[in-house]
Order: sequence, then structure tokens, then C-alpha cells
Amino acid sequence: MSGNGSIDTGLEEMLYSLARNKGIDPDKTIHIFRLLLDSAGQKGLSDEDLEALTGYRQGEIRKVLRLFYEIHIASYRRGRHPETGATRYYWKIDLETMNINLIRRKKAVLDKLMHRLRHEESTTFYVCPNDGSRYTFDEAFENEFVCPKCGSLLEEEDNTPYIEVLREVTRRLREEIERDEKSIYSG
Ligand SMILES: [Zn+2]
Repeated sequence: MSGNGSIDTGLEEMLYSLARNKGIDPDKTIHIFRLLLDSAGQKGLSDEDLEALTGYRQGEIRKVLRLFYEIHIASYRRGRHPETGATRYYWKIDLETMNINLIRRKKAVLDKLMHRLRHEESTTFYVCPNDGSRYTFDEAFENEFVCPKCGSLLEEEDNTPYIEVLREVTRRLREEIERDEKSIYSG
């Protein structure tokens, strides 16, 4: 949990799974993200700075920076090393772009959940009491209400608890998106 009030805590979870999916060390990704975030308002951190701060290999650090760049949460500017004069790239987290990008992703998640919710609300499901596999009414009907996997008689499922959870989750997410949008576009 970052101390910066404008950063949503869900972002770190998202970065964590994004990094893991791309084969990048997720803990190192979060560590580098926090270091860049803490240095906001300064000139930014070069990959050498990050190497000195973390002890991670440059190759690993560059992978993380490339990921941040690809998902538009970080930007860099060219500068010179204060002593050697060599070209350096200084990285920082781009807060506004990051938040806009985050809202876009949350909306995509909300879309999927709403689709799921409507599907649950409009469909009668059947479940196998033996192996827990789940079928729509049409699928169950085609199989004469017998589980195609194990032959048990299918039972009608009460999916109300699941629907209630989905309603609650989508309600909260929608509120969160509204809050995010207010905080970005009010300033
Ligand atoms: Zn079964």
C-alpha cells in the first residue's frame, strides 16, 4: 500500500499478475514501481540508480522498465550522467497517464463482469453432485440431465448467492471507477 493517496492499491495487484504472466519477477517489479513512485517530482531514476538501490541485474531492471513503458505508466527522458557525461535515461512514473490507463482497464473488467452477471441472471444452471461440473439448461437438456462425465443425475443449481456476489462486486467497481474519474478530471 503506497503512501500516495492518488494511487489505487489495485494497481499493484494488477502489475504483479501482469509481470508474472510475462515471465518477469513480480516482486522485483513492485519494488521498482515503488522506488519510481517515491522519486516522483525529482529528475527520475536511471537504470544504474535502480541497480544501486536494489542490487538487481540491469537486464532484469530493463525488462521491468520496458513493461512499464509498454503499458504507459512510465516515461523516460534523456540526460547526462553527472560525472561521466555519458547518456543516461531517467525514468519516472507518469501519474496522469497511469490513472487514465488504469480506469480503462477497470472498465474492461467491469464489462466482463456485467456480461457474466447477465448470463447468470438469464440462465438456469445444472450441476453434477458428484464432480461439481456445471451445465446450462440447454447442455443439461441435450444430455437428458445426466452428467456426460460420470453419469450422475444433474441437479438444478441455485445460483442466487453467486449472482449476489457479482452484483456487489460490479457495484463496488462502478463506484471505484466514478471516484477515479472524479479525482482525475476535477483537477
Ligand atoms: Zn458428473
